[in-house]
Amino acid sequence: KVRVRFAPSPTGPLHIGGLRTALYNYLFAKKHNGDFLLRIEDTDQNRFVEGAEEYIKESLTWCNISYDEGPEKPGDCGPYKQSERKDIYEEYVDKLIDNGRAYYAFDTAEELDAKRKEAEKEGTKFSYGPKNRDALNNSLSLSLEELKERLDKNDDYVIRFKTEAHKTLEFHDEIRGYIEVDTEVLDDKILFKSDGMPTYHLANIVDDHLMRITHVIRGEEWLPSLPLHVSLYQAFGWEVPKFAHLPLILKPSGKGKLSKRDGDQLGFPVFPIEWKDPETGNVSAGYREEGYLPETLTNMLALLGWNDGTDQEFFSLEEMSQKFELTRVHKSGAKFDPEKTEWFQHHYLQERPAGELVDQFMPILEEKGVKADKSYIEEVVKTIRERATFVSEFWELSSFYFKAPTAFDEKSAKKAWKKDSQEWMRALIGKLESIEDFSQSNVQSEVKDWINTQDLGFGKIMQPLRLSLVGAMQGPDAFHIATSIGKAETISRLNFAIE
Ligand code: GLU
Repeated sequence: KVRVRFAPSPTGPLHIGGLRTALYNYLFAKKHNGDFLLRIEDTDQNRFVEGAEEYIKESLTWCNISYDEGPEKPGDCGPYKQSERKDIYEEYVDKLIDNGRAYYAFDTAEELDAKRKEAEKEGTKFSYGPKNRDALNNSLSLSLEELKERLDKNDDYVIRFKTEAHKTLEFHDEIRGYIEVDTEVLDDKILFKSDGMPTYHLANIVDDHLMRITHVIRGEEWLPSLPLHVSLYQAFGWEVPKFAHLPLILKPSGKGKLSKRDGDQLGFPVFPIEWKDPETGNVSAGYREEGYLPETLTNMLALLGWNDGTDQEFFSLEEMSQKFELTRVHKSGAKFDPEKTEWFQHHYLQERPAGELVDQFMPILEEKGVKADKSYIEEVVKTIRERATFVSEFWELSSFYFKAPTAFDEKSAKKAWKKDSQEWMRALIGKLESIEDFSQSNVQSEVKDWINTQDLGFGKIMQPLRLSLVGAMQGPDAFHIATSIGKAETISRLNFAIE
């Protein structure tokens, strides 16, 4: 059975790249009727950030990316938080020490620093590995008694992985294909730190194995760790899961990776929901608070690195999860496109039930001091939504349905209000007064007939009428506005404009 996981470290807010990783894992699991797990990788105490875990969960919930197992959804592989699994990692690292694939290293930070400086002087780079490990301060050169003595003395140590020398590692990435790496370029990574916590590498591999993960789908930044990870599986004698490393998300310019800091600089959110930094108090914008719909974000992110092989661009979560294939994920980085995101948002705003949009519009109307029937508001929303991308634009697009203009846009007035407009608007008032059935279709046909009998250009009447109703040369059909606000209000606005 397919089992995948999203394994964020709670070191800060989840940015949209991380959210895309979660989404692809979710889609892949759904596609294969598999399980999607959430695992919190919080073994690095120094980088722990207050509130980050809750932020991650809230972001996933808002985007409707639900997981089958996780911290609040226990399955048979829990706990799902690495800080609660310390004993497990100890047990497994001992296995590696026993079979000679890991060793204790007692080098102090000062000693290693000195080595680094020495190497730098010679124009090389120090790395702890097959070539020099024998000359360093570790258990490989100690007898069992000597080792026991040092451990009993409580000497500080780390546990390192013993990389095999002179070996070519071969593996297959579901997206990138065949990859080979010579172990010569690898160093002996730390598996257990001196603070008694495992490193990401060890905990990640142990958990993926124990949680029966079949496919590891994660960001490209982890590709350099793949040789180590595969070596670890082999050292444990475990089956290696399939790997898929997702392409980077690039800045809109295509120059470089989109980073967490780009949000403020480039003028669009890089976080799903607002994030308040617990230390600085700084607030970073989120898509949710900016008025985006979750469907916008998931659709946009899905296409940032994947397509279904056709030109189709709109996909519901459900549809994506039927069509998602790892083989259709691109190798090269995907440029983030804020305009395209707005385009998706415009589409999904049109798809929302009108009643829901009315509910969101109500508080704004209240703020403006407007009282109106729900059915009236719904009619207005239906008329103007097509011009809107966000609910926050509704007022600007529709205020004249609720309030008479108090001023006239200068440019519009210049264009619409001619020498004889005053006279014609008086005549129009007379005409409107005589109309009994003030429905849109009737007013429209009666006014049109009247214009024709006057032998006038249509614009001569309609432009000043619009200006009087709206205060500018914009908005939906003038007859719709007039008949919505009613005869008395229409005439009152015309009178106001004439003055
Ligand atoms: N904890 C890692 C991260 O924060 C997970 C990497 C992986 O998926 O293996 O990205």
